[in-house]
Amino acid sequence: MKALIGLSACLLVGASAFAQVPSIDDKHLKIAAELRDEALKSSIGYEVVESLTTEVGPRMAGTPGDAAAVKWGVAKLEELGFDKVWTEPVTFPTWKRGTEKAEVIAPYPQPLVITALGFSVGTPEGGLTAEIVEFDTLEDLVNAPEGAAEGKIVFIKNRMKRARDGSGYGPAVSARGQGAVEAARKGAVAIMIRSIGTDSHRMAHTGMMRYEEGVKRIPAVALSAPDADLLENMVRRGKPITVKLDVDAEDGPDYTSHNVIGEIRGSEKPDEYVILAAHLDSWDLGTGALDDGAGIGITVAAAELIARLPERPKRSIRVIMFANEEQGLVGGKFYAEAHKDELNRIITAAESDFGAGKIWRLDSRVKQEAIPVVEKMAKVMEPLGISYGNNRAGGGPDLIPLRGYGISVFSLRQDGTDYFDYHHTPDDTFDKVDKEALDQNTAAYVVFAYIVAQMEGDFGFGLE
Ligand SMILES: [Zn+2]
Repeated sequence: MKALIGLSACLLVGASAFAQVPSIDDKHLKIAAELRDEALKSSIGYEVVESLTTEVGPRMAGTPGDAAAVKWGVAKLEELGFDKVWTEPVTFPTWKRGTEKAEVIAPYPQPLVITALGFSVGTPEGGLTAEIVEFDTLEDLVNAPEGAAEGKIVFIKNRMKRARDGSGYGPAVSARGQGAVEAARKGAVAIMIRSIGTDSHRMAHTGMMRYEEGVKRIPAVALSAPDADLLENMVRRGKPITVKLDVDAEDGPDYTSHNVIGEIRGSEKPDEYVILAAHLDSWDLGTGALDDGAGIGITVAAAELIARLPERPKRSIRVIMFANEEQGLVGGKFYAEAHKDELNRIITAAESDFGAGKIWRLDSRVKQEAIPVVEKMAKVMEPLGISYGNNRAGGGPDLIPLRGYGISVFSLRQDGTDYFDYHHTPDDTFDKVDKEALDQNTAAYVVFAYIVAQMEGDFGFGLE
């Protein structure tokens, strides 16, 4: 019933409001600045991450940790005084990690540190022993002749480059996603990649991989960076290197988790809303403090600060803790599908999913006439060390399905120089979260959310 009333209200608003040139008055800009300063003094975001990592910990999609996280999310949003808290179902296939071991058998016997990639099959009972064949990159593997890896274990040694904006990730990660399929096409029995990361610690980075219909499913693992170095050194000596892999992993039944949603209800246009997004699931190896506990803390804290004001802003602020981002943006896809008839009520959205480093740039994706409001927003963020970048924001992984429908998005770009030292490893733990940097993030998000909730007009819909 509520939904029906909401929908008709939206249609009326949709016709008028969505043609307006947006504006924001000085009074609200001043409140935004006060909220910013308050955020720098608040420790709510930090406490939220501490709570999630301590009371739930690892929460890989479909595990008991996932269920515990959903329960935790609902309780936390209720405890912090959100006006409305609810969940929406998200269903997906599951995967389970078992034991995982690797060792060089000959000519230089020693153990290797590995971890299975998400959705990898296991090795046959008792393990698998084969010679390795080294490739510099995934591309080299693709371009190799037919049968180039026949009966062998493919080893891809490409290194991810460190960069503030994380731009080294994209080019490197294709080896993880696509490597097993390409290796199997060349006759390989398994694949080992150098971890997609920038650290030099002896732990491997997990993450999602894919199989393809009609291509043999071979085990896929990541080596820690020093173990990849070790293999390179062995290969350089020119003798055949034999490796034994013993990996236990299996697919499980479908599982239904939930997106957890909390709303601060708007006072004048409650059915128009700004989305603050993060994902609630993590990989299983660490406690998911940076990925994406930090995003949960930042977005929850920003909304909570606005809820402390004597009056609710005009529009609603919707915090979405997305389910199962890691294994295919599943929560984001389900949200877009479940809300597809009312996506024009989303004024804009931003996701925090890049750790806890400070924000240094604000990017938007708005209609051209809205840029002056974005520049005013950036001005309020300026004391935080943030400047306006461009109008080509991506918005974050869980927002990709929504962006496909043309919603406006923002990217509050964080310093990710160290992010890939910890990403998807056992070392993604609470001690890596810097409180001051986290508070700076909350300060930027609260400025963003408040201005969008209070401004006149909109950012456009049906954007490219
Ligand atoms: Zn993430």
